[in-house]
Amino acid sequence: MSRPKKQPAKDCIFCQIATGKLPASKRFEDRDMVAFDDIHPHAPIHVLVIPKKHITSLADVTPKDKELMGKMLYRCKELARQLNIADSGYRVTVNVGKWGGQVVPHLHFHLLGGAPLTERLSLYTEAAVLLAKE
Ligand code: AMP
Ligand code: ZN
Repeated sequence: MSRPKKQPAKDCIFCQIATGKLPASKRFEDRDMVAFDDIHPHAPIHVLVIPKKHITSLADVTPKDKELMGKMLYRCKELARQLNIADSGYRVTVNVGKWGGQVVPHLHFHLLGGAPLTERLSLYTEAAVLLAKE
């Protein structure tokens, strides 16, 4: 059953962060989005940028969300500047679905930087592919 898009999804941890029910180390907030530190950082700077409304993943974005997506990407760029990682370089990633490695089913952009990042964007083995097909 589909729920109204603006209503927080019950039991969604990122909806709970967006509404302030769960604590987070916030870096930015406006009416559309929240940015906060990842609880298990993969780099010295690891910030998650999420929409306040529940969108399960990038795969669920609709044409109505296009402006929001632009705002979120622009916020990544602004945060990178504010966190002093713009000049050295950084990475913005979005994991989508099971094989994309998405664990939390509420859309989020990862902003990573503060150290040289590995060149490998993806990591998979043929064994993992075979297992996933079983
Ligand atoms: P993904 O694998 O793309 O779904 O990434 C989910 C990210 O959310 C992981 O990097 C987690 O460390 C992070 N995370 C999960 N719960 C929290 C939380 N309560 N506060 C901050 N980050 C979280
Ligand atoms: Zn949610």
